[in-house]
Parts: sequence; structure tokens; C-alpha cells
Amino acid sequence: NVRVRFCPSPTGTPHVGMIRTALFNWAEARATGGKLVFRIEDTDAQRDSEDSYNQILESLRWLGIEWDEGIDVGGPHGPYRQSQRSAIYKDVAAKLLEAGYAYESFSTPEEIAARNVAAGRPEAFGYDGYDRNLTEEQKAAFRAEGRQPAIRLRMPDEDVAFDDLIRGRIEFKAGSVPDYVIVRPNGDPLYTLTNPVDDAMMEINVVLRGEDLLSSTPRQIVLYRALMELGIAKEMPLFGHMPYVMGQGNKKLSKRDPESNLFNHRDAGFIREGLLNYLALLGWSIAADRDVFSMDEMIANFDVRDVKANPARFDIDKAISINAEHIRMLDADDFLRRAVPYLHRDGVVSADEWDALTDREREVLSASVELVQPRVRLLGEVAGMVGSLLSTDGYIEPDDDARKTLKESAGDVLDKAVAALEAVDEADWKAEPLHELLNKALIEDGGYKPRLAFGPVRVAMSGRRVSPPLFESMEIVGKEISVARLKGLRE
Ligand code: GLU
Repeated sequence: NVRVRFCPSPTGTPHVGMIRTALFNWAEARATGGKLVFRIEDTDAQRDSEDSYNQILESLRWLGIEWDEGIDVGGPHGPYRQSQRSAIYKDVAAKLLEAGYAYESFSTPEEIAARNVAAGRPEAFGYDGYDRNLTEEQKAAFRAEGRQPAIRLRMPDEDVAFDDLIRGRIEFKAGSVPDYVIVRPNGDPLYTLTNPVDDAMMEINVVLRGEDLLSSTPRQIVLYRALMELGIAKEMPLFGHMPYVMGQGNKKLSKRDPESNLFNHRDAGFIREGLLNYLALLGWSIAADRDVFSMDEMIANFDVRDVKANPARFDIDKAISINAEHIRMLDADDFLRRAVPYLHRDGVVSADEWDALTDREREVLSASVELVQPRVRLLGEVAGMVGSLLSTDGYIEPDDDARKTLKESAGDVLDKAVAALEAVDEADWKAEPLHELLNKALIEDGGYKPRLAFGPVRVAMSGRRVSPPLFESMEIVGKEISVARLKGLRE
């Protein structure tokens, strides 16, 4: 039974790479009928924050990525926050020391660098194994100087190799990885210890994570072997390292890049279905000729061995067009409910929930949903489309873009339109007859080309160059306000 985990460190805002990791682990668990464990790796008090922790939870909940064991839901291997597991790490470190897999190391970074230079190695060569075989007397002498030892894991003098689920055979040459610190001199356990120990104790058997962690894998395998011999780990997990995500200019997408910030995408109006679909494409695909799919389809088809090893490119335009497809697939009702918080944020409705809107707001939105839903790619675009429909203003200030389209003939066009529209009976104020009426007044009788004829009317109605369909918009807004807007622009 597959047991995977998502184990972020709570530093900073959730980012695209982090959530892709969560998604693929979740898909692997669901595809195999296994379990997803969610733990938090918060052993770095300097960098970890409660804010970040809460944001990670918020992002998983928003996206609907659910875990079976861990944070909040509990389980048999808790606690699931590493900051609450110090006693466990202390105990394991003592066992590793006692059995000789690890040793006390008193060298300071300065001493290690100096020895490297003296031996003709680069200063940053890394640790040289100096303390591997200290006698009890030597250790006592260091302690007498007031030194506290770090604990280092003893690396074997042989190659370390494993079969990566995504990249195939990976080998690290003997001697390429120095004996590394697992517990600091002050007693703090490091990621190098806590991560494999927790994977062992939580019985994780598939480790799926980013390529950036590949270099830590040989160390973890060596530690894992020791844990197995000590009876702490049952079996060596399989490893799969997912490809880097590249941003602009073929550079790795940095966590600090705004395009990497998950909440920026939510704020722009990605819906969860669209964003998850796009994140899934960062290293995986459902079929060569298919970009749009649901999470159910992903689960039904996901196999970690199909994940590609070569870097994935984050392409925001593609992400947005995939989101547009998912927006179109929503029920109208669902679409409106999801759009309301964005409309409220942008100041075009009075509340952030559908049920709290005024009757008129609900009527206008329901009447315009068919015009709007097929035309937006992000929920953040809805306000621009419906703002003029919701507004009861008799004049809408055109934006610069719209103003530029107004030609000299605009005044005459608006006068002719007003004259024709004022004669219409309220009861006949419907999109189709309005279209026919203005066609006749402006094009047939007025002699204007369609663009010159309808452009000014559109700008008057919406203040924008692009708007929802014009005559439907006039129907929704009603006669009085429509005519007022045309007159308003005329003045
Ligand atoms: N806490 C680690 C990180 O945030 C996760 C490492 C892993 O997946 O093994 O990078």
C-alpha cells in the first residue's frame, strides 16, 4: 500500500513548486488507493512562521487537496509537526551514535576550511572526516575547552545508487558526499535527520519531491540504511524527483517570483479546477493532444513513472487559457457564486456572498451570466464585464482605450441613436428589436459602417472598447439608464 507524504517547511507564501509537489503526491495516493500524509517540517525556528503554516493549510483547502493523515486530521504516527517531535529525534540520534553510524564532531567551520586549504583542497571543499575516529580522551579534551559536538553521519566508502521513479538510475560516487551534520552542537536536529526519521516512522514508501532535493537523497539513503538496521525503518522508500519549474527567460522559477505565488493566481481569479489542471501539466500530461482535464481524470490516469524528468515551463498564458475552459464548464449558478467575492473586492456589488446581494444585483447577474461566462478567462475579469450592467449611473466615464475609438462622427451617431431609442416602448425594450432599430437608424438610414455606428453606443453603455454583447446589455440595463448614458456621452 502506497504511503506518500507532503512535508513543506513553513517559510514564506505557498508557491507553485510546493503546490505541484502536494498535487502529485495526492494524485499518487488517490491513483493507487494509498495514503497521503501531511506533516510540517518546522525545525528551523529562524525561518519558519505560523503565518506561512496557516497559508499552506489555506491553499490546500482552497484547492481541495485532501490528506488522510497528519496535520489537523491526526493519525497513528503523530505529532505531525516536527517542532513537537524533538524527543524522538534526540532518541534516534543517541541510538545512531551508540551503534557507531554517527559520531561526535568538534571541528568548527573555520577549522575545517583551514585544514582544506592546508591540504591543497578548495576552502569550501566540505568536511574532511577529521573527527571520525576521535578517542574518548580527545573528546574529553575538546569538551574541557568548552566545545559542544555536532553529530555527523558516517558516509560509506562506496558509491550510493538508487533507481529514481522519474529519472532512472542515479549514482553518487564514493567520497562525493561528506559526513554531514544531523544534530547541531546546540542539540537542534537538522532536516537531514528529521526528514528520513519521520519518513521511516510514518512508514512512507514513496518519496515524491522536487529535483532540488536530489542532492540530499544519497545522504538520506545512507541514514535510512542505518535506521533499517536499528529497526526504526521497515523498508527503503522509492524516490522520485520531479522536474524543475522554469519561469521567464528559462530561469528556474524562484519562490520570490510573483508568478510563483499561489495566492496571486487566486487573486487574479483562477478557479481551483483550472489551476490544478495547469499545475498537473508541470511535468505530467494525460495525453499528447490534450491539455484540459478534471482531477478525477487525472487520478484515473496518473502514474508517477509517466512524470517527465526534463524541466517544465511555467507559461501563464497557457494557464489562463486552461482556466478559461474550466470557467466555461461551471454551472451558471456556481460561476456566479464564485465570482461574487471578486465583484465585491472590485467594488461592483454590495456583498461578498451571493445570498447577501440585493435583488437587483442578483437579477442583473443572472440575466448577464450567459453573456459573461463564455467571455472571461479569470474571475477577476468579471467585474469589468458586469460593472456597467450593475451600475445605475446615467453616465459612464470611458477609459482611455475606449475614448481613443471615438471618431468625429460619434456625436451625430449618438444623437441619431437617442432619437430612435427614445421612441421605443418600454415593453419592446429587448435585444433583438433594439438591434434592428439601431441597424436601421445608423447603418441603413444613417449611412455609417457598423464599427462607426455601434462603437460609440458601446462606449456610452460600458465605458469600454470591449464589452458584453451590446444589445443584450441595453436590455439588461433598461431604457431609462441606456438613453441617459448615450446622452451623457454626447455631452
Ligand atoms: N521540508 C522540505 C522542503 O520544504 C521537504 C523535503 C522533502 O520533500 O523531502 O523542501
